[in-house]
Amino acid sequence: MQPDVWELEVGSGVRGLRVNTPTILDVSFSFTVRATDCGARLGQFETPHGTVHTPAFMPVGTQGAVKATLFRDVEELGAEIILGNTYHLYLRPGDELIARRGGLHRFIGWSRPILTDSGGFQVFSLAERRVIREEGAEFQSHLDGSRHLLTPERAVDIQARLGSDIAMVLDECLSYPATRDDAAASMQRSLRWAGRCRDRLIMLRTSPGPGDVTGTNPGQAQFGIVQGGTFQDLRDESVDATVAIGFEGYAIGGLSVGEPIDTMYSVVDATARRLPESQPRYLMGAGTPEDLVECVARGIDMFDCVMPTRNARNGQLFTSEGRINIKNARYAEDDRPLDPRCGCYTCRHHSRAYLRHLYMAGEMSAGALNTLHNLSFYLDTMRRIRDAIVFRTFNDFRQEFLRSVSRLPSDA
Ligand SMILES: [Zn+2]
Repeated sequence: MQPDVWELEVGSGVRGLRVNTPTILDVSFSFTVRATDCGARLGQFETPHGTVHTPAFMPVGTQGAVKATLFRDVEELGAEIILGNTYHLYLRPGDELIARRGGLHRFIGWSRPILTDSGGFQVFSLAERRVIREEGAEFQSHLDGSRHLLTPERAVDIQARLGSDIAMVLDECLSYPATRDDAAASMQRSLRWAGRCRDRLIMLRTSPGPGDVTGTNPGQAQFGIVQGGTFQDLRDESVDATVAIGFEGYAIGGLSVGEPIDTMYSVVDATARRLPESQPRYLMGAGTPEDLVECVARGIDMFDCVMPTRNARNGQLFTSEGRINIKNARYAEDDRPLDPRCGCYTCRHHSRAYLRHLYMAGEMSAGALNTLHNLSFYLDTMRRIRDAIVFRTFNDFRQEFLRSVSRLPSDA
């Protein structure tokens, strides 16, 4: 039976749903580029849970929590969107349990936008605990050894239950280095999986069938992912075919996996140029503060990375004068704040000497205070980038930023 799309629209909150090619679902998502400067784009996107100003950095909330911090603080630092990991949430506490709690936003108490990954990256990282075939990725849980099959369709279903504002397609994540043949085969498989993910999302919206999936965010958008390793012709092919399927935004995946930094920048540059100007571009899993600035210069709008939070817990701190390793004995009697130019709670209240003491004593507040600072540094960098684009001074900002962050102590 043909689904009655227009009738479904009334109750679903989905506006102007189209099922014919191009298969763009006009969800509660829109993106506007407001200004450009030297390759950098200033924009914003609207989601069912609010607006995100771009270029944006998304703190990683792996298990429904940004590690060692509270959402109150993440919000106060100005994060407008966070990332949730589908793999972790699916295994524990489970996507169905979260759907019964009303979806991820309500469950974790974060009312701003959320992007979820597809779970693919974590599954591929399981190495000997997973087998990839055309149907999907079969893997063994790192928690209890139980066996699971993550197909493109299941990745869509799980994220529909979580109810994130942006869901990612399941893609095959290739390790580096890869041969051209392997990269080509993997990119082609990712394309087939992307098509299946889009079909599944359209089906969930238009004709929920037997084994009904209870979605918790009818306005959820879906992003495609460009693959192709470090081979630009494969990247180009991937861009064209992914855009032909049609998504609300596009990510560049498979980078920041050990390739030389210049290679990453040149792939980002050429790939971003080929993507539609009117839609957001998300560079997955990158990177250092320098990477953010350099990739904004190449037209990227969104970033996520565990670096600020993970490094904070290991005592590595980003400052406007380079990186600091707070374990270093040289800070034992250093009364200065971590970063004299930072206005975060940690820098306003505590000295390097105290933070070093907390770290050495294994106090939990060491992780909390360090995380607060690193997140503040990343989010503040994005704010300064956006301001620079507004005032058409992005290039000056970029030069000055690269000069100052590489001015070491950098004893990290
Ligand atoms: Zn600070």
